[in-house]
Amino acid sequence: MLHDLVANVKDQQSLMKNIFLPFSRPSISETDIAAVAEILRSGWITTGTKCTEFEQNICEYTSSRHAIALSSATAGMHLALYASGIGPGDEVITPSMTWVSTINLITACGATPVFADIDRDSLMITADTITPLISRQTRLIIPVHYAGAAVELEPIQDLARENNIILIEDAAHAIGTEYRNKRVGANGSAIFSFHPIKNITTGEGGMFCTDDQTLADRIRRLRFHGLGVDAYDRQTHGRAPQAEVQEPGFKYNLPDMNAVLGIGQLQRLDELNKRRATLAQLYLQQLASVEHIIPLIQPESTTHHAWHLFIIRLDIDRAGISRDTFMSELKSKGIGTGLHFRAVHKQKYYKEHLQSKYELPNTEWNSERICSLPLFPDMRDEDVTRVVDAIKSVLRSTTK
Ligand SMILES: *Cc1c(COP(=O)(O)O)cnc(C)c1O
Repeated sequence: MLHDLVANVKDQQSLMKNIFLPFSRPSISETDIAAVAEILRSGWITTGTKCTEFEQNICEYTSSRHAIALSSATAGMHLALYASGIGPGDEVITPSMTWVSTINLITACGATPVFADIDRDSLMITADTITPLISRQTRLIIPVHYAGAAVELEPIQDLARENNIILIEDAAHAIGTEYRNKRVGANGSAIFSFHPIKNITTGEGGMFCTDDQTLADRIRRLRFHGLGVDAYDRQTHGRAPQAEVQEPGFKYNLPDMNAVLGIGQLQRLDELNKRRATLAQLYLQQLASVEHIIPLIQPESTTHHAWHLFIIRLDIDRAGISRDTFMSELKSKGIGTGLHFRAVHKQKYYKEHLQSKYELPNTEWNSERICSLPLFPDMRDEDVTRVVDAIKSVLRSTTK
């Protein structure tokens, strides 16, 4: 009997070892599922009261004045560029170490992306790297809050104000992040993402937060065909049929079936982020003694880290393998990893179409070395140990 039991436990352990550990997985509760099912049964599944409620809850959580729910953060970026009138001849300063959507949209608008280099250990652009790039054509700066840490914002805000440049924060990684004791989104304009890998999800979705009433009205109108913002009919729960086009717009609204998921997720956000922080601390402790692995450094102005990602840099000069080999070795051991991000100026289209006038040593250094380890709230403490053991084993077999 005991023998059977032991064999069984051993089977289970080897089974666990073989189960692939993804680098990210959304945390969906039974309550989330029930809430979505209720909307599906309700007869109204697209944008309506749940969307409004989600927007209000985000305003309360972040202390932002206006929040406009969208189908993605990318949609938010498009509307921000469009509402800012960005077009041919204009320059937008942003990192190359970011998700491609920002650069794609700047380019699609006919404007020119101008890449500022990042701080080597936080992966974020700084006022110092932005300043020399400001020209008469500069219309907009889009810094990125990275991995759950906050960008050093105040000096960038000063720069933008002095030079009459618009500032929009890419806060896709930063729901719950605090910069100097204030939540990201509390001031200015910031765009959040609720893609399934982000800290909370609506399936797909995004939120444009701003303290600018005129911009908020415009984004709200552009989100839905450019129809008047007061066109919502309470009785029919829909657009008043008489609503008229105020200007040509787009279709980037967030359906209630998605928004209701966001409402439930937001209620759990602090708890989910706390679990992420615990796992991140475990990684930091366990990796401290592992050679050739360099974690990021948390900026002092980040008073609360949302731990969207746990990023390490592989010391490829001494580890004896490339980062890509490191990732595939981990994969063969059942560990999923991510890459946030491959520098945009190093990608096919941009290599061929952008002038290579940029010197981005820190971006390029990191682009070859970064790797995101598994980090999601439903991970167990043992999973961290499993990842660290796998890393040690990969490095042991390759280090000369
Ligand atoms: C995820 C992400 C986006 C895009 O978000 P979507 O909601 O998928 O459009 C933009 N910027 C950064 C830094 C991201 O990580």
